[in-house]
Amino acid sequence: MKTLSKIIMLFFLIGFMACKNKTEQSLEARADLIVYNAKVTLEKEGDFAEAFAVKEGNFYKIGSSDDILKLKGENTQVVDAKGKTVIPGLNDSHTHLIREGLNYNSELRWDGVTTITEALSMLKEQAERTPEGQWIRVIGGWGEFQFKERRLPTLEEINAAVPDKPVYIMYLYSLGYLNQKGIETLGYDGATKYPGGEIELKNGRPTGLLVAKPSALILYKTLTKLPKLSYEEQLNSTLHYYRELNRLGVTSAIDAGGGGQYYPNNYSVSKELAEQGKLNVRTSYYLFAVDKGTEKEFFNTWVNQLKSGANDDMFKPNGYTYEGAGENLTWEAADFENFLEPRPELHDVMESELDSIVTIIAKNQAPFRIHATYNESIERFLNVFENVDKKHPFLNKIRWIIDHAETINDANLQRIKRMGGGIAVQDRMLFQGEYFVDRYGAEAAKHTPPIAKIIDMGIPLGFGTDGTRVASYNPMLTLYWAISGKTWGGFQLYDYNNKISRYKALEVFTSGSAWFSNEETVKGFIKEGMYADFAILSDDYFTMPEEAIKNLTSHLTVVNGKVVYAANDFKTFDPAIPEVIPSWSPVKYFGGYQNNK
Ligand SMILES: [Zn+2]
Repeated sequence: MKTLSKIIMLFFLIGFMACKNKTEQSLEARADLIVYNAKVTLEKEGDFAEAFAVKEGNFYKIGSSDDILKLKGENTQVVDAKGKTVIPGLNDSHTHLIREGLNYNSELRWDGVTTITEALSMLKEQAERTPEGQWIRVIGGWGEFQFKERRLPTLEEINAAVPDKPVYIMYLYSLGYLNQKGIETLGYDGATKYPGGEIELKNGRPTGLLVAKPSALILYKTLTKLPKLSYEEQLNSTLHYYRELNRLGVTSAIDAGGGGQYYPNNYSVSKELAEQGKLNVRTSYYLFAVDKGTEKEFFNTWVNQLKSGANDDMFKPNGYTYEGAGENLTWEAADFENFLEPRPELHDVMESELDSIVTIIAKNQAPFRIHATYNESIERFLNVFENVDKKHPFLNKIRWIIDHAETINDANLQRIKRMGGGIAVQDRMLFQGEYFVDRYGAEAAKHTPPIAKIIDMGIPLGFGTDGTRVASYNPMLTLYWAISGKTWGGFQLYDYNNKISRYKALEVFTSGSAWFSNEETVKGFIKEGMYADFAILSDDYFTMPEEAIKNLTSHLTVVNGKVVYAANDFKTFDPAIPEVIPSWSPVKYFGGYQNNK
């Protein structure tokens, strides 16, 4: 009897414990977010899953809708993807998003506009609501071949559209247009001069056309004379710009600094938002030497003081982080990507200048990146790196990046491979391909830049946009360009030798880009344990017509397991965002990239 009761007790106990375990387990297993009934892009090309669960900011489980829905708890957010395609969040490995955040609300964006008629009517409409003392500005991100008219707007058209308020339009880093009121407001005359640039004159008076020859200094120095948004407006502008990136599926970006972008002053807005957990694109930034003649001093101060990868705040473990130095290390090494003008020859002093700066960086073992359009520049830069490495070994120890690399040759690709560098490539040829072909020929354009070869050689490759001035910030254009091998004007730049598959293009834009901030082990794939950054797309990227990829958007974007943007079927998940300020902001009326127009 005693034994029997003991056995019964034991049964009860085991039963109770099993029960308790089961409850604990199921509590623990409950997901924060579930996406089911989806076409989920997986790590291996051609593999898709139906569903996944997210927990504590990471992908937790991937599987069938039935299995994943079992992880649903009381507080789980559940998204029926309605069969749509889910991709890992895009990671723009070369863009200028911190600077654009400060300016976005003041700009009229022609990105995606398909006719000059429409572009000019937007200009006119915006002029009507722009108050006295403010400008109407279009600052890059567009190209003449996106227009059905296949030409640039004329000064006459711009003056006719807006005769009474100042207008400044920047075209790539090639041309600037001021209307008559703009010339008057800035006080430009026959005596106004910029090194490496030209103000076109007629009868001794400026026509309004500014020409980079090939230095873009004239273009961005003119831009700095225009009024800036207030600090409050810059905070709001940054929120709206980051949301615009979320709308296009971007969840991470690497900032390459930029002209006029001073550290630390011009970073206080993004830092403040990061500290509040409001910066909805994971941001790593490189520091750019803004003023000629002060580069050494600048890097001596900051590379010594800052620690690469030390997260300032926001998402754990990487949300807003100083990464390293570049893309401008010294102005002596700046080879402007203006294919309307001949290739600039870098000065003889470049080597000693760059040597002293790379020495500072190498001593600190900090990552760095350098802007380099042409093979001739890259060759000389690599010589400098090899020399510095003899005194302060850094090659194959730290991450370093060649940015752009349009005309790089095989020999220098092999050197980069041997020296442990990576290459960040952007779709600048989508906008400027025709100009390149006019100057260097269609044969040379076939491997400009040699995307497929970089991949074949196993050199780390990241995609990006180089937004927002030279090119648009829309990453879908980059994907379209890499897949189709075409310019925006429809010119076939690449053949099968340099075009890549849709899957590969996506992988370069997610996992590939993650290498450039040393994060390829934590993000870039929809994979258990990786950051839950993803986008549910408006259309099936893998099967839709190629031309339509340019107009792809996200309908639901998630960063760190949190919905940051939602539209259409998923609208109810969309988080609130403050109204655009100032009230006359073009963004309030037009938004950013003009899809489907
Ligand atoms: Zn650059």
